[in-house]
Amino acid sequence: SDTDEPSKDEEQPPPLAGANVMNVILVAAECAPFSKTGGLGDVAGALPKALARRGHRVMVVVPRYAEYEEAKDVGVRKRYKVAGQDMEVMYFHAYIDGVDFVFIDSPVFRHLSSNIYGGNRLDILKRMVLFCKAAVEVPWYVPCGGVCYGDGNLAFIANDWHTALLPVYLKAYYRDHGLMKYTRSVLVIHNIAHQGRGPVDDFSYVDLPGHYLDSFKLYDPVGGEHFNIFAAGLKAADRVLTVSHGYSWEFRGIVNGIDTKEWNPKFDLHLHSDDYTNYSLETLQIGKPQCKAALQKELGLPVRPDVPLIGFIGRLDHQKGVDLIAEAVPWMMSQDVQLVMLGTGRPDLEEVLRQMEHQYRDKARGWVGFSVKTAHRITAGADILLMPSRFEPCGLNQLYAMNYGTIPVVHAVGGLRDTVQQFDPYSETGLGWTFDSAEAGKLIHALGNCLLTYREYKESWEGLQRRGMTQDLSWDNAAEKYEEVLVAAKYQW
Ligand code: ADP
Repeated sequence: SDTDEPSKDEEQPPPLAGANVMNVILVAAECAPFSKTGGLGDVAGALPKALARRGHRVMVVVPRYAEYEEAKDVGVRKRYKVAGQDMEVMYFHAYIDGVDFVFIDSPVFRHLSSNIYGGNRLDILKRMVLFCKAAVEVPWYVPCGGVCYGDGNLAFIANDWHTALLPVYLKAYYRDHGLMKYTRSVLVIHNIAHQGRGPVDDFSYVDLPGHYLDSFKLYDPVGGEHFNIFAAGLKAADRVLTVSHGYSWEFRGIVNGIDTKEWNPKFDLHLHSDDYTNYSLETLQIGKPQCKAALQKELGLPVRPDVPLIGFIGRLDHQKGVDLIAEAVPWMMSQDVQLVMLGTGRPDLEEVLRQMEHQYRDKARGWVGFSVKTAHRITAGADILLMPSRFEPCGLNQLYAMNYGTIPVVHAVGGLRDTVQQFDPYSETGLGWTFDSAEAGKLIHALGNCLLTYREYKESWEGLQRRGMTQDLSWDNAAEKYEEVLVAAKYQW
């Protein structure tokens, strides 16, 4: 009844009441743990589960880049035309944690798992045309638990330029013809740096009526008139969202949550083995130093509890400000610190990591590679996490870090500004250190203050850790806000 108080250890929010329960289909180019190159994969893996916990029927549609043991062939075959070529797709299905996962299979997706966005511009474009054409029809053809979703109370959540064609197809193939009248689409901007740009002639590949051409055309002073998939998706979608307030202009921003099973020091599977250990706020003072020692040992660094261990995890590119760290390395190496960097990306920046390790063997490690396990272990074992991103739509690593009692030092932009409040020693508030422009000098200044606090003010440090670890960073909050947007889209005419 209404008066029942939920019990204290009840982790899950109550499911929604009748009228607003929806069928939700999230469509993305990657989804953790099956496929992941960055934050988009984490979001696609975690948001649907949180929406399902709120009582919605939720599906994720993602390409089948490899054979996933859990997913079974549903036996449906469909053919789609892409650039004049007839292509067959198959559908695989798995039901995991209350969510239907549908994998679209075609030879063009297979064997891409380590290279999801590989190939030339047209290869990628054709893959995404096929994927979006097939995805928009999934509610009709793919039975989940025996029953197709259909179009009643249906909302699609498309993500970034790769799936921005989905809202366009929904409109052009269905809604313009009075079909799927009650279906809505939301397009989420995770990173607008990639927009699916090309010459205007690319329009011939997307298979749309001629009057749609204008919605793809965008003009900018550098590139002139060009074809832009993101632009068309933004116009066709019923609602547009982005992943933090700081990254939104006129759109609504909803800060990402984190998967509190995957990225939780208490349950983290990557801390189960070797010398690592799981820990929580209660066991922080024993567990975290043990993880730090394990990380130092695993990486062959001197095992010293007192030396501040600084970490970086992320794509090695201009966005992530890796060059600022490189510029600050000589200063850092003049301090009594250890530095561990994990990433892949631009060859010259990968070289910077190798060179740094070579030059400072006794205090620095540069791990070039994509290793989820190592990312988790650095997050647990490091004292400090650097994120000097030039722009950052949301950023997940700073959220993971705070959940592990690791203190973030970040450039105050986008989602980083929204989620990391500057430490104030007078009021003992804040979550980390921020600096206000992307310059090595500013990074050094902020990191210097952070190191001073680590060395001289133990209680302040523990306060920072405690505040970070007791935040509710789960997806449940964010899922509720997504739901508001989906409901609002539903009642919009
Ligand atoms: P972005 O999506 O811009 O790459 P985010 O901070 O939102 O940045 O998410 C990055 C995700 O990718 C995090 O889960 C991070 O741990 C992971 N990641 C990035 N680089 C690596 C790597 N080299 N090895 C393992 N995980 C990585």
